[in-house]
Amino acid sequence: MRMHPSLEAILPKVQKPARYTGGEFGEIIKSKEETEVRFALCFPDTYEIGMSNLGLRILYGVLNKLPGVWCERVFEPWRDMAEAMRAAKVPLYALESGDPIRDFDLIGFSVGYEMSFTGILDMLSLAGIPLRSEDRKDLQPIVFAGGACMFNPEPIADFIDLAAIGEGEELDAELTELYRRAKREGWTKGEFLSAAAQIEGVYVPSLYDVTYQPDGRIASVTPKEGAPAYVRKRILQDLDRADFPVRTIIPSTEIVHDRTMLELFRGCIRGCRFCQAGYIYRPVRAKRAETLIRQGIESLRCSGYEEISLTSLSTSDYKELGALCDGLLDWCEPRSVSLSLPSLRADNFSLELMQRVQKVRRSGLTFAPEAGTQRLRDVINKNVTEEDLLNACRTAFSGGWSSVKLYFMLGLPTETDEDVLGIADLAYKVWQVWREATPNRSRGVRITVSTSCFIPKPMTPFQWFPQDSREELIRKQKLLKDSMRSKAISYSWHEPDVSYIEAALAVGDRRLGKVLERLFASSGGLQAWEEYFDYAAWLQAFREAGLDPDFYVRRLRGEEELLPWDVIDDGVQKTHLLREKHLSERGVVSPDCRKQCLGCGANRLLEGGKCDA
Ligand code: SF4
Repeated sequence: MRMHPSLEAILPKVQKPARYTGGEFGEIIKSKEETEVRFALCFPDTYEIGMSNLGLRILYGVLNKLPGVWCERVFEPWRDMAEAMRAAKVPLYALESGDPIRDFDLIGFSVGYEMSFTGILDMLSLAGIPLRSEDRKDLQPIVFAGGACMFNPEPIADFIDLAAIGEGEELDAELTELYRRAKREGWTKGEFLSAAAQIEGVYVPSLYDVTYQPDGRIASVTPKEGAPAYVRKRILQDLDRADFPVRTIIPSTEIVHDRTMLELFRGCIRGCRFCQAGYIYRPVRAKRAETLIRQGIESLRCSGYEEISLTSLSTSDYKELGALCDGLLDWCEPRSVSLSLPSLRADNFSLELMQRVQKVRRSGLTFAPEAGTQRLRDVINKNVTEEDLLNACRTAFSGGWSSVKLYFMLGLPTETDEDVLGIADLAYKVWQVWREATPNRSRGVRITVSTSCFIPKPMTPFQWFPQDSREELIRKQKLLKDSMRSKAISYSWHEPDVSYIEAALAVGDRRLGKVLERLFASSGGLQAWEEYFDYAAWLQAFREAGLDPDFYVRRLRGEEELLPWDVIDDGVQKTHLLREKHLSERGVVSPDCRKQCLGCGANRLLEGGKCDA
């Protein structure tokens, strides 16, 4: 990296300077003379979080394979670095070349968490790029965003030129090729955006006029200049044949997930009614075990990592899990490389598998029953029973495990105090099971209960429901804390203040642009971090924008209401979401996709229409 002269003076004074220097093993350097399109792949959070993101690793590899295209990484600097850069007038730069990103052609943000929306503003401002799309008149740079949050891109509609909806591998490449053509042929920004809007998966906010009713609900959304009425998300048809970069960058400082990651499948067969990921990544598409073993071994060889993690929304639902683990372990065990399996389900937990997998290094177990009573688990369609959980724990404890984490959600629709107390009861039963099953009581046990707050998310059957009030969530947290009956059980919870703002950003409309702008002006970026999250400033920003966050968060949305994200089509039909909502209101469960296809509609996205559940 060619360093800005001021960086030499700045870097020794900031925390973790390795975040800002690039030069890691595996980074891709290209010749500028041979580069036609420069792509800044931006992550609106820190280096450690961004470098752990599998999507980012994949896109970096895919885009750099395009001839004449150089894709470089950019992360949001920590506050000390951002202040020092502003003071020394060092514009935000890309890690590979050290060049200011304001000189790049495409600036693509990967956004997986609503609280990092302000990171986009922070990075644009640090780069010296006008924040609002309307203030950027030229073809260069085009600012866009992709990632899970783009299933409702409206809150950041003012700042991006376009949103890339769905899986980015092919879509980002097509956008880049279109841009290359636009640059060669001297198109205007408007010409480029009109053409981009014709690519499946591209949403150009400025090509849609939105009007509101007097009470604040959306009255109409009107596409113009030939933009489609609905933007259908992009998916890869065949994951098994998709490009998977086995050579990735090895960070020179510690990151959150410092290991090789293998993605077994996309989508989820389960249909938990609160879970956005379970819906937006449908239909299920799996890789073959054979492919994964080959990619896993090659990735480990290229990286030297000592751990490989099998990721996906519900890893234990992967049909060929046994064969995959066997194949990987044959290679990993003699080399002391450990295998980790996150996201286990209590109803198909296998001790035999866990023991095989964790021979090298044993970690704690994590289960997510999500609700404390069967009634509420049926409402949310978490097809896991108390018996499933206790059996899984019994098996694990008898096999020598002595720590288990249990994840729950507070404030789910229809929740009563009985459901809250049910969490404490369930944790206590787990403790009793440990006493009965453990071969060694003297070692003790650690049971960690953790609760998050329900957040209504777009594209789910619970998108219509409100969130509990802050006071109610705090009361429930206290009720639960006071009900824990063993010192072996510890309880941690998410702050309702953050969840309230997260909910507003998740289900908000494009009027929230003003809120984000004001909040950024008063409190800056990094709002996903406790150190910098400023609740009072958020409320003030809403007030100044003339908006009430309760309108978004605490209101039961009508089933007929036009929702801000209705223009986006993720494949799942709204009628299916409504059917699931109605079933939840009656406490009726739906079978998983493997038992019975419920006709959600996502299979329409597949050539041949056959879901791989
Ligand atoms: S089409 Fe059927 S099997 Fe596929 S995700 Fe939808 S409900 Fe599940």
